[in-house]
Amino acid sequence: MEPGIRKKNVDQAVRAQSHSGCRIALAIHALAEPAFKEFESSSLLAEYLTDQGFEVEFPWRHMPTAFRATWGDGKPAIGMLGEYDALPDCGEKEGDWGHGCGHNLLGTGAAVGAVSAARVLEAAGLGGRIVYYGCPAEETLAGKVYMARDGAFRDMDACLAWHPGTDTGVSNTGGSSLDSLVYEFFGRTAHGASAHNGRSALDGAMLMDVAANYLREHVPENVRIHAVIRHGGDAPNVVPAYARSWYYVRGKDRAEVDSVRERLNACARGAAMATETQVKWHRLTGVYPRLPNDTLCTAVQANVELFGTPRATADDRRRAGEVLGKDADFNRAIAPGSRDQGRGSSDEDNVSWLAPMGRFQVASHARGTSGHHRDLAAQAALPFAQRAMLQAAKIFAATAVELCADTKLLRQVRMEFERRTRAFEYDPLVPKRQPVPVDPP
Ligand SMILES: [Zn+2]
Ligand SMILES: [Zn+2]
Repeated sequence: MEPGIRKKNVDQAVRAQSHSGCRIALAIHALAEPAFKEFESSSLLAEYLTDQGFEVEFPWRHMPTAFRATWGDGKPAIGMLGEYDALPDCGEKEGDWGHGCGHNLLGTGAAVGAVSAARVLEAAGLGGRIVYYGCPAEETLAGKVYMARDGAFRDMDACLAWHPGTDTGVSNTGGSSLDSLVYEFFGRTAHGASAHNGRSALDGAMLMDVAANYLREHVPENVRIHAVIRHGGDAPNVVPAYARSWYYVRGKDRAEVDSVRERLNACARGAAMATETQVKWHRLTGVYPRLPNDTLCTAVQANVELFGTPRATADDRRRAGEVLGKDADFNRAIAPGSRDQGRGSSDEDNVSWLAPMGRFQVASHARGTSGHHRDLAAQAALPFAQRAMLQAAKIFAATAVELCADTKLLRQVRMEFERRTRAFEYDPLVPKRQPVPVDPP
């Protein structure tokens, strides 16, 4: 299908869905549900996809807010990733949850893209399968990790993903690798005045933290170790029998994170030995760095350029300005894509090791808007953000249609993926029966 025809068909298909899409994005914005508790948000998207003729498995496996919606049964199979979890303290009022990462747009844009791709394929008599993955809990870096452990994404010929941002373009480099680790120390309680009879689990946790501080000097440049103590006892006059800390280790790749984690484990063991306590640890979630796919990203970039960015009106600038409390403008340029690995991490990068991944961004809020912030959440309900979301839907649909129509392109995408994963075996990083971390440890 010629790019001109593809554009015309996709424009039409997305226009027909725009009313439903904007309604759902606003509803999810108002719901602002936390990770793994996105019951109504996931239902809204699942209902929409059911109404549009998708076959929906909801919930998916044992995850109550995950689902999978499939249209068609042919090949190739194109996956589209949707997220819908919110963030604490990003709502209108202090303390309220809000869409400070714009996932109300993210999940809905991908769903509208999936429906529009199905409509265009149908009308053109093209074969193919469109699979929308409803992915909970991106903000806690867990949803797709557990879905991947349980078999998702592997049967896709390619997967597409996007994120609302302040810039537009394709990013092929992704974020950092990460381990989220929980350390539990077990001691012996005693009256504080007779502490010689006790062994403090809190001492173990604190001594581990001291050791981790010394470790920081001797790790590679880009490694980051973050930690909080989640439980340290209840009263100063009771020797704590139990303490729990939560660490993140980030690095450039799995090997780097694995090596630093083993050294951090040694800090934990050393601290336990010195304090005569016991320690055990487990990994809550683990993230891979992105496996790039240049062929797919070039195709996505061409579709980003085909549709461009939404034009901001004086009213859009005024409304974003009211949120930010200063003059606001929007970046209309299309960036060639960053070549630098991000410091943050996302569970979508795990998917890139199971299927070729094409990931893009569309400017949905004004320049200078902070991420994970209520200023972003407020803009994620404005008309400009809705138009940006519909542009994203077009890029999803157009790329999916292109991959279904152009067998040579898809073959090249697959060849690059096979070449890059030749000696690779996917380690799910979380044990088979470990339940999803619904609440923080
Ligand atoms: Zn986020
Ligand atoms: Zn996000």
